[in-house]
Amino acid sequence: MTNSKNIYEELSKITKVYLDEDMSKHTSIKIGGTADYYINIENIDNLKEILKISKKYNIPINVIGNGSNILIKDNGIRGIVLKINLEDVKINELNEQIQVTVGAGKKVIQLAIELQKKSIQGLEFASGIPGTIGGAVKMNAGAYGKEFKDVILNTTYMDYDGNIKTISNKEHEFEYRKTIFMNKKAIILETTLNLTKGNAEEIKEKMNEYIEKRKKSQPIDKPNAGSTFKRGKDFITAELIDKCGLKGKNVGDAKVSDKHAGFIINDGKATANDVLKLVDIVKKEVYEKFDKEIELEVEILGE
Ligand SMILES: Cc1cc2nc3c(=O)[nH]c(=O)nc-3n(C[C@H](O)[C@H](O)[C@H](O)COP(=O)(O)OP(=O)(O)OC[C@H]3O[C@@H](n4cnc5c(N)ncnc54)[C@H](O)[C@@H]3O)c2cc1C
Repeated sequence: MTNSKNIYEELSKITKVYLDEDMSKHTSIKIGGTADYYINIENIDNLKEILKISKKYNIPINVIGNGSNILIKDNGIRGIVLKINLEDVKINELNEQIQVTVGAGKKVIQLAIELQKKSIQGLEFASGIPGTIGGAVKMNAGAYGKEFKDVILNTTYMDYDGNIKTISNKEHEFEYRKTIFMNKKAIILETTLNLTKGNAEEIKEKMNEYIEKRKKSQPIDKPNAGSTFKRGKDFITAELIDKCGLKGKNVGDAKVSDKHAGFIINDGKATANDVLKLVDIVKKEVYEKFDKEIELEVEILGE
């Protein structure tokens, strides 16, 4: 008790701390228990100080962006949740080549719109991905045949000891929805994208085309966390789920979307437990019918 009072007091000297924050407010699927300490990160100095306190008291650190690829369990998150809000954008024009350095908290959709207005092309593929740059870098987010790995020049992060490091594209060890950040205690601060000069109208057309495709195929009117499962190496997971007749299958208010079998939606008051039970049912049925093991794309946090 004394410890948690000290922790709160020390953290509060740095910035505003929210105690027992309801994490369902911070996830796109609108599910999640409470986080012990929830902190918005607006600058790097505060981040460094907070990391020192986490080390002093041995409190776990969890990082979130826009919460669009995570499922937080019903008993919540012990320790500190850092919501990264660094949003600066710096543009460096080198003739046709344009380097855009962007803060990890910047929303990908917002960045895509700003770049389109400046006739900078290359991020159209991501214009409907509802995450932040930090989340997109860590996940190697992608759509319509492209991934962040195709546009990243380098990324700067802070390790949990407060050291700042920059890694090149190659050092991200990009794979499908996988990067080195999966195994790193690191907070992504900013990334530099390698883009080019383009035509604003053409960029807008492409973005609109992708957004229309999403509207038609994804249940964007219901809370969800994107594709629940990863694509298989030699199969499309959503197709197998559909062939199992699982569209509309539910546990409580967690439901396999009728529109896209790869998405589990929160159709009301679903709990993380409901979602996880449904995930197990889906995995089991796909395995029994097709002998394929399917893997979660959504990351589970908390307890
Ligand atoms: C409707 C919908 C459609 C989607 N479509 C796509 C799609 O087309 N393609 C695709 O790839 N994904 C898609 N997603 C999933 C999701 O939007 C992406 O994975 C996105 O990149 C996650 O970003 P985020 O900021 O929301 O990250 P979060 O969900 O908050 O976090 C995801 C992971 O990144 C980590 N993280 C976040 N920020 C940082 C940081 N600054 N430093 C270190 N770690 C960090 C978190 O700890 C967590 O491990 C979709 C989701 C939804 C809801």
